[in-house]
Amino acid sequence: MGLRLYNTMSQTVEELRPLEPGRVRMYTCGPTVHDRAHIGNFRTYLAEDLLRRHLEARGLKVHQVMNITDVDDKIIAKAAAAGKSLSDFTAPYVSAFFSDLQLLSIQPAQELPRATEYLGPMVALVQRLVDSGHAYQSDGSVYFRVSSFPGYGKLTHLEAAGLRAGASGRVDADEYEVKEAVGDFAVWKGAPEGGPAAWPSPFGRGRPGWHLECSAMAMELLGPSFDIHCGGVDNKFPHHENEIAQCESVTGLPLAQLWFHVEHLLAAGGKMAKSLGNFVTLDQLLERGHSPLAIRYHLLSNTHYRQKLHFREEDLVGAAQSLERLATFWRRCSAPSPAGLGPGGSGDPLVAAAQRARDRFEAALDDDLNLPKAVGSLHELMREGNRFLDQGRAGSGGCVAAIATLRAADSRLAVVERAAVGEEPELSPEERGLLERREEARRQGHFSKADRLRDELLERGLVVEDTKEGTRWRRL
Ligand code: AMP
Ligand code: ZN
Repeated sequence: MGLRLYNTMSQTVEELRPLEPGRVRMYTCGPTVHDRAHIGNFRTYLAEDLLRRHLEARGLKVHQVMNITDVDDKIIAKAAAAGKSLSDFTAPYVSAFFSDLQLLSIQPAQELPRATEYLGPMVALVQRLVDSGHAYQSDGSVYFRVSSFPGYGKLTHLEAAGLRAGASGRVDADEYEVKEAVGDFAVWKGAPEGGPAAWPSPFGRGRPGWHLECSAMAMELLGPSFDIHCGGVDNKFPHHENEIAQCESVTGLPLAQLWFHVEHLLAAGGKMAKSLGNFVTLDQLLERGHSPLAIRYHLLSNTHYRQKLHFREEDLVGAAQSLERLATFWRRCSAPSPAGLGPGGSGDPLVAAAQRARDRFEAALDDDLNLPKAVGSLHELMREGNRFLDQGRAGSGGCVAAIATLRAADSRLAVVERAAVGEEPELSPEERGLLERREEARRQGHFSKADRLRDELLERGLVVEDTKEGTRWRRL
């Protein structure tokens, strides 16, 4: 059976069928860089990273786009209060975001478009909406006419009438007066007085609406219809509903085949959120002595991504211990002469146990990314393996098989080997770029180019090895 994922749109777990065989195009709503991201945000990015890693482990080539929202009302207000330009104000939050991604071993998307660099496609989309009658100009701004799109509400399964009657959360009294209907939302916000965050357009000076930014960047980089659109559950409405309306009303195509939403990380008072003041950042946890590996392991594997997770700092201690047990087993199996190594051979029970664990791990991930269950199979392997080794029944073949299972699992988890062999600094963007170019060269059969790139990596102190499980690297 293939990989099955829950689709918010159909409300069922569906088999993923990429539009283009072997390739998956996926869009992930990224951060709004007006502050440091908290670990609630990272729960969502981690689950999306798990999704991408699992797709890749199944042999699919993933093209991922994550936007960086570097202009919105909050950013404009905060930058003005700080007396800074937008880019000076957002720069430190953008670099903090990338360094947090790296610490948590979240693979950066191949494309990380910044909203301020996509004004052209945004203005063009607003124009298409106006030309087709789906948007109208009013008092210097442009609004989407919700009544013109019968599919409005289909993602969240709400009646369009109900949505029109209810406020979208971003509506204020002034805006209400210039709109035809209360549910209509701005696709272009007029700013006739000028200021640093306004761009010229056929509709007058202004800036794009937040929802429109994602619509334009997604279609520009992935086309009008792609495979997976991701975000946290709070993105469903109004953000994703509005994205769908803006895109599908002009293209007539489904924006995404599958909508992937990650449940919230909770803290005292409910959802972890900046506005509630109940948030924790990664650097705070690191300062208090927690390891990034334990944080990644906990946020990913404690609870299924579609269930709420209550964050309690003390749970990180338990996560670190659980991870250390797996790491100890790794070290025991990879030691040159594991204590109590038995004769092994064809009857080595650890070989069979490793295969069983591997099958269960993959089956659980194929079933809507059930990582808690998948990790359970690794712990079972560890318990069995330790028993076989204690009893002198497992041999070197079993140890090799156990390591192969853990290594395969770690292409998704990305914590066990590093917990076992010690923390290695992650790849820098340049190193990652060189590795990716080498992979591409190998795929295309340009082996001398691949070798040159390997030498270049070696000069930087990075040893690259090609194994059955794929290319691996380590530092000299
Ligand atoms: P924002 O920067 O607020 O747009 O949020 C960035 C991403 O984090 C979005 O996909 C949100 O849905 C997600 N997010 C925000 N708060 C939480 C939370 N407490 N738990 C999980 N995901 C969250
Ligand atoms: Zn978005």
